[in-house]
Amino acid sequence: MDKGCLYIVAMPIGNRADITERAKQVLSSVDVIAAEDTRHSRPLLQMLAINTPLLALHEHNEQKLVGRLVDQLVAGGTLALISDAGTPLISDPGFPLVRACREAGVRVVPIPGPSALICALSAAGLPTDRFLFEGFPARTGTARREQFRRLKDEGMTLIFYEASHRIEACLADMMAVFGGDRPAVVARELTKLHETILSRPLAALVELLAQDPNQRKGEFVVLVAGAQRSADALDPESERILGVLLEEMPTKQAAALAARITGAKKNRLYQRALELRGEP
Ligand code: SAM
Repeated sequence: MDKGCLYIVAMPIGNRADITERAKQVLSSVDVIAAEDTRHSRPLLQMLAINTPLLALHEHNEQKLVGRLVDQLVAGGTLALISDAGTPLISDPGFPLVRACREAGVRVVPIPGPSALICALSAAGLPTDRFLFEGFPARTGTARREQFRRLKDEGMTLIFYEASHRIEACLADMMAVFGGDRPAVVARELTKLHETILSRPLAALVELLAQDPNQRKGEFVVLVAGAQRSADALDPESERILGVLLEEMPTKQAAALAARITGAKKNRLYQRALELRGEP
């Protein structure tokens, strides 16, 4: 065990057998384990016969604790960071600590393992070459629909986390914004007894969850297929830049400048600029 090191240790997302050998070895050897919820982590650590002292580090106290923890690490201590499930920092606490450690020259060592988003993506049957992880969608309907509107034309596979009490409202808003035909996947209770991975158009998923209360229980990853674009369509960023330039300058000049900024073809940008201006 290297001295003065922060270990970022991934934990199972349901199935306890998914803990890695390396995670067990690190967790038994460090001076302290910083856990998001010590009451949650203790039973699993006890089952693994890991008796390392635990310290609570969550979103309410992490800013306050960071300085002290970095000092201990600089003095040669060893610390492992874990969250309730999956990989720390992924929609979980730890970012301020990792940033402060790196700024202080403390070595940060990742101990990889499960993360619900990668687990879901690997089995969803949607394109995996490029994806956009959005974490938890906004909680209120208005903000959530606005968030989805910004993503409507995105071509990458979209990935969201969602809680059971918001899953129906979230899917309904997705259907309203992305359209009922957009392919999507609801990955529920991954690695657990009631794991289900449902692939349907959004309208069918909304209906299925409305009819089956069991499908509304547990933890969810929602994946939405990226928007289909015709082969010569502009990517959303080029489209945005062209739109801004068109407000400021003539069509030809806007297309030429957009081509220099984005690397997209000048002719295609010019054609699109004419469409946007409503010119033939
Ligand atoms: N750090 C975790 C990770 O690496 O996946 C995520 C923590 S975040 C606070 C918890 C959310 O992750 C849940 O609300 C759910 O959306 C998703 N999640 C975690 N475990 C899951 C599972 N077994 N099945 C489906 N979704 C899960």
